[in-house]
Amino acid sequence: MGRVVIVSNRVMDTTQAAQAGGVAVAISEVLQSHRGLWFGWSGAVQADVGEAPTVTPMTDGVAIATIPLTPQEHQGYYLGYANSVLWPVFHNRLDLAQFEAGFFDIYRSVNARMAASLKPLLEPDDTIWVHDYHLVPLALELRAMGVRNPIGYFLHIPFPPAQTFLAIPEHKRLARMLAAYDLVGLQTEADVANMLDYLKQGVRGRILQDGRIRAFDRVLSIGSFPVSIDPKEFVSAKPRAGLAQGGPTVRRIIGVDRLDYTKGLPPKFHAFARFLERYPDNSGNVVLTQIAPPTRESVEAYTDIRTELETLAGSINGRFGELDWVPIHYIHRSIPRSTLADIYRSARIGLVTPMRDGMNLVAKEYVAAQDPADPGVLILSRFAGAAEQLTDALIVNPYNIDEIADAIETALQMDKAERLRRNAAMLSVIQDHDTFAWSRSFLGALGRVYAKERASGGPPSPELRQRLGQLAGRTGRDEPIRSDGSRPANLTGSLE
Ligand code: UDP
Repeated sequence: MGRVVIVSNRVMDTTQAAQAGGVAVAISEVLQSHRGLWFGWSGAVQADVGEAPTVTPMTDGVAIATIPLTPQEHQGYYLGYANSVLWPVFHNRLDLAQFEAGFFDIYRSVNARMAASLKPLLEPDDTIWVHDYHLVPLALELRAMGVRNPIGYFLHIPFPPAQTFLAIPEHKRLARMLAAYDLVGLQTEADVANMLDYLKQGVRGRILQDGRIRAFDRVLSIGSFPVSIDPKEFVSAKPRAGLAQGGPTVRRIIGVDRLDYTKGLPPKFHAFARFLERYPDNSGNVVLTQIAPPTRESVEAYTDIRTELETLAGSINGRFGELDWVPIHYIHRSIPRSTLADIYRSARIGLVTPMRDGMNLVAKEYVAAQDPADPGVLILSRFAGAAEQLTDALIVNPYNIDEIADAIETALQMDKAERLRRNAAMLSVIQDHDTFAWSRSFLGALGRVYAKERASGGPPSPELRQRLGQLAGRTGRDEPIRSDGSRPANLTGSLE
């Protein structure tokens, strides 16, 4: 295998990846072992942007290449289409989507500019791995520039149900962009089912016998590749004596979520209040510590949530608190991951209740940080991607406040034998599917689907495609795939 080229909205210093954890660790390892290149936005917003990226060789042999954005691009691409359309819609929040004219065109043109900046840096045997919702159009732009390398795409956020995706005004154009990848990786089987459902309903895609899907003029592979953590990072977590506010008898519930409307923080606080109401014996000896660092504060939909949460914490503390006991301990700041590991270990319950989440690494980190001889209990939303793997958590519906309140009581009452069984089962899933397994399985699958595509003649050139489209009259009709996996040449007409 040649180099691996990672493209994501933001890049990071691969020598510092351990501090970021999860996905960053896996990507850095892939880059370090393939003398890779990581390309993305530098984070700078400036009026004057040239085409050539800034390339920085790192001490570990990886090169980082970045470009800045103009203020208009930052507004339309990053704050606009990515974070005010795709993020809310993919998290089932159509009500928060801002379908503003112009956002999509800027989104596409930033991707085109990124592709043009990246192209001169590419080598013929590079494998290109594009990440997340900011960069859906990138492969189509690269293909239009003649790039024939394998290009894979991984979506870190959920893929919504077909009816929700269909509401995006540009859904067909996004689908055509997705079809330019050789492999699309999603977090869960449920996401894969949603995408297949959409491709069938929305653009008359067709599932082939071998599980691949034919949409537009491409045959696309889609699979689930759940992101994960390196559990070894958490085994040496130590409980912190000073954390037991109110004395050693206080049992801690830990929540760690960016202050995002998808994370279900207000319902979590309401559920904790319901728990105190229903199970008053816990007064004075249970504390909810919620770490909620700020995020995307310049996106409109985020402006009210901080005030809402602080008001809620204040009113719950005012209602239930005692002179020597404050029930909710709320921290609006980022905490280093090494400290988080110790906090997880000191907490009797990990409370992870997003309304929708691609995966949720905090859930996996909490499990991995537990004392294997006396573990705590994970309470997990059924709408977090992690729920597909961590079936031994106490699974709750985050819309059902009573159910969460009861789950907290169940977790506090759970005997040691059951806690041990549940934690061991979840830990073994995490160990078998760690962050390195994630990157290995994605890149392995990309290599296989690309080899298969090449064996069947590969994608036709744009000229051939145009001629074939004319010959086929662009009927969009489809026929079965041949037993050798290839397709008859006249079936390449666009479905759009
Ligand atoms: N995290 C952190 N400090 C904080 C809060 C979160 O280092 O104060 C880390 C956390 O350990 C986890 C990641 O940020 O690795 C959050 O990942 P997750 O998948 O749970 O949610 P996301 O923020 O990606 O939606």
